[in-house]
Amino acid sequence: MANNRDEHQSEDYLFKIVMIGDSAVGKSNLLARFARNEFYSNSKSTIGVEFQTQKMLIDEKEIKAQIWDTAGQERFKAVTSAYYRGAVGALLVYDISRRRTFENIGRWLNELQSCLSYRTLPFENPHQKLLAAILAPAGDENNKDTMLSNEDTRGNPRLQKAHSDMNVVVILVGNKTDLKDAREVDTAEGKAIAEAEGLFFIETSALDSSNVTAAFETVMKEIYHILS
Ligand code: GDP
Ligand code: MG
Repeated sequence: MANNRDEHQSEDYLFKIVMIGDSAVGKSNLLARFARNEFYSNSKSTIGVEFQTQKMLIDEKEIKAQIWDTAGQERFKAVTSAYYRGAVGALLVYDISRRRTFENIGRWLNELQSCLSYRTLPFENPHQKLLAAILAPAGDENNKDTMLSNEDTRGNPRLQKAHSDMNVVVILVGNKTDLKDAREVDTAEGKAIAEAEGLFFIETSALDSSNVTAAFETVMKEIYHILS
């Protein structure tokens, strides 16, 4: 179908990705490192929700991610459904040096699922139409089949589970690997829960930059592959 967006195909990819996880696990610093190559040794406190738009080239197409960060609401368990609305990806972050933040993963997954599973879609612009492919309400069997026929998820039961259960690409991120002596969660434990829940998994350090770009790119690439 001809339309005036054909010559600007790349602009059709805009993904909303949300940062979630307990307070002080390093969500804001992961985003600051990825988007601006910056790190703050003290947390800034901000008011309201913030997002950063980041571009990435995949298959010679320009993909834009709008990455949302909480402004500290998670401290008061006050992340609202508006924060999650329209998200197709999530980085669920814990701190490898604070076991409690790892133990709360299940709560974050529940919240994500309850906020994203029964949404109805407003089609306000072409971006949102494009996203519809993976935003169908959970329980819609026809749409599940469509999603699972995607080349990249076929044959991978973990990813199939993630998409069919949650309709959102989630990567579990164990942050602060630079704090080697203070580690309270083994890599194997992170991997195991990610496998059980059908999530991608990576360990990062916003401080020394390791794996930060890879964490965001994994989510962006996977969303792109589901849609293309
Ligand atoms: P948020 O509440 O999840 O957004 O966490 P912040 O990004 O504000 O980080 C909380 C604290 O952890 C700050 O003092 C950061 O400097 C520190 N921090 C964040 N990422 C890392 C990391 O990878 N390594 C270390 N050592 N500290 C980090
Ligand atoms: Mg923060």
